[in-house]
Amino acid sequence: MLREQIYAEAAAGLQERRRSAQMEQERRSDRIEQEIPEIAELNRHFRATCSEILRAARGADAQERIRQIGQRSLEADVMMRQLLTAHGLPADYLDVHYTCSACSDTGFVNGVPCECLRKEIGRIGAEHLNEQSGLKLSSFDSFSLSYYRDLPAEQKQAMAKNLRTCQNYAADFQPGKSGNLLMIGGTGLGKTHLSLSIAREVLEKGYSVVYDAAGSLLHILEQEQFGRAEQKDTMGLLLECDLLILDDFGTEQDNSFYRSAIYTLFNSRVNSGKAMIVNTNLDHSEIQSRYGDRILSRLLFTSEILHFYGKDIRMQKYRETHG
Ligand SMILES: [Zn+2]
Repeated sequence: MLREQIYAEAAAGLQERRRSAQMEQERRSDRIEQEIPEIAELNRHFRATCSEILRAARGADAQERIRQIGQRSLEADVMMRQLLTAHGLPADYLDVHYTCSACSDTGFVNGVPCECLRKEIGRIGAEHLNEQSGLKLSSFDSFSLSYYRDLPAEQKQAMAKNLRTCQNYAADFQPGKSGNLLMIGGTGLGKTHLSLSIAREVLEKGYSVVYDAAGSLLHILEQEQFGRAEQKDTMGLLLECDLLILDDFGTEQDNSFYRSAIYTLFNSRVNSGKAMIVNTNLDHSEIQSRYGDRILSRLLFTSEILHFYGKDIRMQKYRETHG
């Protein structure tokens, strides 16, 4: 998906928010005018004020007259708020309630893109990337510690602690504040399940999350780099999203383009304080021999490390259901 398309989709979404906030205000206003005649009277006064100002602007003593009209209008506004509260309604009941008060859902503040527009672009971009990866969200509720019951006590405790760490990570997630998680362990031990449970909660909070296998993302980057895909900006999305989850790190093929893309990703995200979750079945020394010290240190020194233990859960589930 092109950057411009994502932008157009985000802008259209904001415009829709703005329109529906204004329509909602009109509905409230119509209803209340019928119930409270004094409010209908004040609203007529406000409408008259607008044309009065236009007329005054053409007069000789324009400045003084506009000041007086403004003063009366302020007084009418105070009366309106008093009337509303006297009828048991909030004082701002007849204001337009925009989703973003900073830009009134226009997407711009003094010509500069508002934070809400930036967020919407990130969210839509992430959504399109996740569509490609076939992201299926999991939840913490369906993560069962019973699959780890036969493990030695120490490993069982480690698994329970991993679950708690991930739950807390999701609950406390804040862009710019949350750190990185590095999940290490064999296939089928719950790394993906816990990552996708975090992804669900973070997405529900309205942050942008990109999740995919490292190999697929690197493949997309490679296609774009060498002009084999329509012009896209996947690297931009990977660097900007609030949370990046790289699954199966280390199963991708090993080449210099992939290694340098990984370094760019890790380095830029660490430097800009953006959170990552990296899942791998490589241990420290395997990461080091494959990617070198630069990538290893970027990863190890900035991450909380969670070790996963046990027997492949998918195999255990298969045996349970197939005898
Ligand atoms: Zn805004």
